[in-house]
Amino acid sequence: MDFPLHTRPLGPARLLGAAPGGRGVRGPGPSGTEIIEIAAAAGIRGRGGAGFPLGVKLRSVAGSAAPGRYAIANAEEGEPGSVKDRFLIRERPELVVEGLLLAARAVGADRSFLYASDRPGADALDEAARHVPSVEMIRVEPAYAAGEETAVVRAVGGGPALPVVKPPRPWQEGLHGAPTLVSNAETLAQLALAVRLGPRAYREAGTGDSPGTFLATVSGGGRPPVLYEVPYGVPLRELARAHLGDHAAVTGVLAGGLAGGLLPAARLGLSLTHAAFTAAGSTLGCGGFVLLTAECPVEVAAGAAAFFDRENARQCGPCVRGTEAVATLLAGLMAGTAGPGDAARLERLAGGLAGRGNCATPDAVSVLVGSLFRHHSTLVHAHAVRSCARCAGARPFDVRIPLGESS
Ligand code: SF4
Repeated sequence: MDFPLHTRPLGPARLLGAAPGGRGVRGPGPSGTEIIEIAAAAGIRGRGGAGFPLGVKLRSVAGSAAPGRYAIANAEEGEPGSVKDRFLIRERPELVVEGLLLAARAVGADRSFLYASDRPGADALDEAARHVPSVEMIRVEPAYAAGEETAVVRAVGGGPALPVVKPPRPWQEGLHGAPTLVSNAETLAQLALAVRLGPRAYREAGTGDSPGTFLATVSGGGRPPVLYEVPYGVPLRELARAHLGDHAAVTGVLAGGLAGGLLPAARLGLSLTHAAFTAAGSTLGCGGFVLLTAECPVEVAAGAAAFFDRENARQCGPCVRGTEAVATLLAGLMAGTAGPGDAARLERLAGGLAGRGNCATPDAVSVLVGSLFRHHSTLVHAHAVRSCARCAGARPFDVRIPLGESS
């Protein structure tokens, strides 16, 4: 297969190049306890969004007193500005399957599942796992909320791919009520890498807090999207420079897919680590970055809020009503039809959305609008009293990266 986007490593090419140890799912390796020790010593953190330490998650499922265990590789990539999981399952399915088998051994799971909507990727995973009877492929319809961990568990169990209230989280009570490890496809590929390399070599890239490399989807700036492999700790500026040739034209960044909100150009010096992004009120999330050059930040926020409103799973009242109201207010500010109190109403409404639903959508909306006011408050209030020339001439902002069915 040839992936339809350019790929480019900015350091060691562990996932974009030839993986150490070659192609093919590797057979029996370390024991379950050893796998957990390797994951912890390598310092692998989740690549799906939260950056949670994998060793802790494995240990929690393995140490549960409840009977039965399951493991699920989550390759449902709902973030519109990210393609990394689709790259991995289409081009490196053996690493994802190998990581799932390692994780299953670590937690003591007899059965495991691969979960994805991308047809070429799901076909490649099926092929990579065809000689492994303990692994089953589950195909799902694409949706933003379908990759949330409780939605994954429901869909694998035969239900709708919709999130449910937490706790309990899947590691406590997941598939058929049993402790279930749900892990992102890249996280599992990283586990396979850490076992192949050993923790010491794995840590030769990245920082102490965020070891290794990660896949970053970079788009915007009038250039075609590119999938980069980046050692943690590189400044965001380096990524902008790699993508545009120069970072001088960058006015801001939409970070972490849509989950990290807006960052101004003044934050291009931020180190690509979990700690630095958290301290800046953002997140690395799934590693999607949209470089902004000519766009108005209000237009960008309006486009992102419209996406959340369209993709809303319409289950939790505060999220459904709040997301719709935020999208409407931002659309009004962008169109120059907002009233004098609308900017303040937007800020208040979005501030109250955090934690008000079964999934992270309301949190993402809250972070998005919070970042808009934190970095561009004067500009937002100006939109409520006069039309913005940049917004007026703008096409609807859209961060989706269509990949097509064939590769
Ligand atoms: S929080 Fe929102 S998007 Fe998430 S499940 Fe509830 S209604 Fe759906």
